[in-house]
Amino acid sequence: MTQQRLVVLEAVLDLDNHPTADQVHETVAHRDPGVSRATVYRTLESLARLGVITKACHPGKTVRYDSRTEPHHHLVCLRCDAVTDIADDRLDALPVPDTTGLGFEVSDFRVQLRGICRRCRELEETP
Ligand SMILES: [Zn+2]
Ligand SMILES: [Zn+2]
Repeated sequence: MTQQRLVVLEAVLDLDNHPTADQVHETVAHRDPGVSRATVYRTLESLARLGVITKACHPGKTVRYDSRTEPHHHLVCLRCDAVTDIADDRLDALPVPDTTGLGFEVSDFRVQLRGICRRCRELEETP
């Protein structure tokens, strides 16, 4: 693994909050100002392809990268875009429909529970 990959991976691990590529770049730039934004984007993509990190999908929004590669699920706040991990055996055991008729091969699945996070709800309740 190259030094640049290592710096980018360390940033994803340290941020630990499903960072966007820009957030990763911000952190990397503090540590190694020589690493360009384009390099961070490229490196994140190749780390995701290698399975070292995963892309936590967030349709319609910026890609979020995840340092946890084992199957888990997400709480997604519709107000502040916070993504929080949730592990739940019942979600893991959800039956996956047969998609062969659609020509689609399922590799894994993640459940997104969408709603409003505690912080945003508390902000709302404060007059
Ligand atoms: Zn929120
Ligand atoms: Zn996650």
